[in-house]
Amino acid sequence: MSRKYLIAGNWKMNKTATEAVDLIKEINSSVGSQTTVQVCVCPPFTSLAKASELVDQTEVILGAQNMSAHPSGAFTGEISAEMLRDLYVGFVILGHSERRQFYGETNESVNKKVLAAVDNNLKPIYCIGETLEEREAGQTLEIVRSQVREGLENFPANAIDNLVLAYEPVWAIGTGKTATDEMAQEVHADIRKVLVEMFGDSAGASVRILYGGSMKPENAAGLLSQPDVDGGLIGGASLTSRAFSGIVEAALSA
Ligand code: PEP
Repeated sequence: MSRKYLIAGNWKMNKTATEAVDLIKEINSSVGSQTTVQVCVCPPFTSLAKASELVDQTEVILGAQNMSAHPSGAFTGEISAEMLRDLYVGFVILGHSERRQFYGETNESVNKKVLAAVDNNLKPIYCIGETLEEREAGQTLEIVRSQVREGLENFPANAIDNLVLAYEPVWAIGTGKTATDEMAQEVHADIRKVLVEMFGDSAGASVRILYGGSMKPENAAGLLSQPDVDGGLIGGASLTSRAFSGIVEAALSA
C-alpha cells in the first residue's frame, strides 16, 4: 500500500499571531498548492484562527499541538477537540515528549486524548520515542512498544486511517543529533509490527509513521527514503519557510 508522505511543522511556543501570518503566507506560496505530499502546520493556539483563514484556499492542513481529553467544562486553560474542529483543524499532536517531560503526560493520559481526538474526527499525531538513557540501556524497542500499546488502547479499528504516529527519539529533539537512517527504519519497522498485531495487516500497512528529531533539508532525503518512514514531524526547521519547504521538496523527490 502506498502511503502519502506527511510533513508536519511543530512550531512549539514560537511565533506571535502576526509572525505566523507571514510564515504561513510563505509556506502557502512555496508548497501550498501541490498535492503529492501532505503538508501540515501546527502553530500555537493563539494563531489558529488566523491560520485557519490563511490555509483555507490551499492544500496546507492546520494542526494543533495539544488538546484536552475533556469535551468542555471547568478546565481552566484547556482547549477542546470541538474548539479545534470549529477552526477546521485537521491534525493534533498528542503526547509530544516535551509534554510528557514538563507536564506529566503519560501513555495513559495521552490515550484519553487520542480517543477524544478520533471521536471528534481529528487526526492524532501520536508521539513516541525513547530517552538517551533508555537507548543506552538497550530498551528502545521495549519502551516504544509499550508507548504504542498503551497509548493506542481501545483505538477504534474503523478510524485507523485517521491515525498518524511520530517516532521521535527524545535525544534527537532540538539537539541537532539525528537518528541514522537505519536507526529510524529499525524502530519504524518494529512499530509497524506492533500495529499489525493490534489492528491487523491492512491497518498496519496504512498507518503513517513520521520521524521527528532534528530533521532538516540536509538529512531529510535519507530518512524519507526508508521504507517505513512516511514523513516528518519538524520542530526547529519548521520555523522558516526555506527550511520547511526544503524538507517538503525532499519528500517530493523521495
Ligand atoms: C519536535 O519537537 O517534534 C521536533 C522534531 O523538534 P526538532 O525538529 O527541533 O528536533
